[in-house]
Amino acid sequence: MGKQKIDILLSTSVWDPKAWVEGLSQSELVGKIYVWPTEEDLSNVEALFVWKPLAEGVIEKLPSLKWISSLGAGVDHLMTDPQIPRNIPITRIVDPNLTTDMANYVLMGVIMHQRSFRLLQQNQQKAQWERITYNKLRVGVMGLGELGGHLAKQLYAAGFEVSGYSRTQKQIEGVKCYDENHLDTFLSELDVLVNLLPITPKTVGILNCELLSKTPKGCYLINVARGNHLVDSDLLKLIDENHLSGAMLDVFHQEPLPNDHPFWAHDKITVTPHVASVTSPESALNLLKENIERLVNETPLLHQVDLNRGY
Ligand code: NDP
Repeated sequence: MGKQKIDILLSTSVWDPKAWVEGLSQSELVGKIYVWPTEEDLSNVEALFVWKPLAEGVIEKLPSLKWISSLGAGVDHLMTDPQIPRNIPITRIVDPNLTTDMANYVLMGVIMHQRSFRLLQQNQQKAQWERITYNKLRVGVMGLGELGGHLAKQLYAAGFEVSGYSRTQKQIEGVKCYDENHLDTFLSELDVLVNLLPITPKTVGILNCELLSKTPKGCYLINVARGNHLVDSDLLKLIDENHLSGAMLDVFHQEPLPNDHPFWAHDKITVTPHVASVTSPESALNLLKENIERLVNETPLLHQVDLNRGY
């Protein structure tokens, strides 16, 4: 008897599903691939692959569902959706390209800040030759998981003084690591604060006036995790009061960032449209195919989310 095939439903509301369908259909373990929205009978679907948001009522059409995978690194869109069942595994994408791209983006932000790159560009417009000096920077990474842990190593390799903060204690060569009981000490020693925490009930709004005020005067913020980690008005207030020197932001409460949002025109804020690290179907499909094989062979799926922790 041949191996069982898995029927899959893809819901990629903001992405073109074509590359995912093509990639998945090359696996001999994949049966039918459905793309939401569809009127077809989905009662044999065992795997649901989602990038946000998932339409209401989808789950109730999937009585055979055994596994849900986010098509990105984040799972906040699933954790906050009441229709998502809690009795089947939920996995997410962990992919070397995603990890490398994130580290490169943040390195770019840190170095642009260190070298006053915005000012150099403004000076070029005026044909002004001004050799701006720069200092060594202490960079702190909040969240030392797949993305933050790799970033901390890359920052150290690039010559920065690096510290990191996470729920549990980590050991990373060259990086001063703090656990969740030492947040204030971590914050007090920084020139740049990078946020790579997941969104959970504990971390929503964590980048607020109280926390950001604990950084030294002149600290710069890079938020590449989620928009709702940040209290926008607190950031603007702290920049206006010259406590923070500025920010680079890739993620926002509302995306696309509304045209009239004050971040767009602020001369100390750099805005990018959620492009710090984008899942590429070509490389993420390797993990999905590995997990399809594991589902068929009834072995534990890779990169499962801890439903109690929420990430
Ligand atoms: P991981 O789950 O691998 O790592 C999360 C880290 O955060 C862990 O070190 C964890 O600590 C720590 N953490 C979680 N909650 C707390 C808390 N309450 N206090 C202190 N530390 C905490 O996530 P990834 O590194 O893969 O991804 C991080 C986030 O990056 C994603 O959730 C997503 O939102 C965002 N992202 C943004 C992208 C973009 O393009 N802008 C692209 C991809 C992801 P511990 O290890 O001790 O549990």
